[in-house]
Amino acid sequence: MKQAGVKKSVVSEGEQIILATEMINLGARLQLLETQTTLSRERLIKLYKELKHASPPKGMLPFSTDWFLTWQPNIHSSIFLNIYDYMLKYAGVSDITAILKAYSLYLQQVGHESEDEPALSLTRAWTLVRYVDSKMLKLKSCTCCTGKFVVNAYDLNEKYLCNLCHIPSRAGKTKKAKKAKELQYKLVSAVA
Ligand SMILES: [Zn+2]
Repeated sequence: MKQAGVKKSVVSEGEQIILATEMINLGARLQLLETQTTLSRERLIKLYKELKHASPPKGMLPFSTDWFLTWQPNIHSSIFLNIYDYMLKYAGVSDITAILKAYSLYLQQVGHESEDEPALSLTRAWTLVRYVDSKMLKLKSCTCCTGKFVVNAYDLNEKYLCNLCHIPSRAGKTKKAKKAKELQYKLVSAVA
């Protein structure tokens, strides 16, 4: 019995390392790695340095729902959350696996190039899922374009118009706005 136990722990440690590796490659912070794997902090730091040739960045996980509701982050958060929901419903995955798969697909959808930081980091994506699980944020259909967007669950949101259909005049004419419109199209066509 004792031997079987030892064997099992070796297997699960291997799985933990694979999971941590995938998360580091997608940009996870140390704090997130500690929450989602059973590996020690020392091992995680060592693994991080091996993969990234740098020490993991310090700093706490973001703690506010506001960020997800601001203009550009809202579009990116919504794309990620639509994919994540799809994963839960149809891909037979859950928890961190669903988050990682959805996040990889999100990066593909937004055409992310690896040199620059994506608008939605993996840490933010994970935080978003926690806020949705704790019913602080949710997805709501826009009454104009029918795309589903992240909204504050406590707001009434009757006749909800998304940030793209109800575009701030200041933001409407920029390059970012043009890119956002393309993303909106993807979001709407993906859920239709
Ligand atoms: Zn809309």
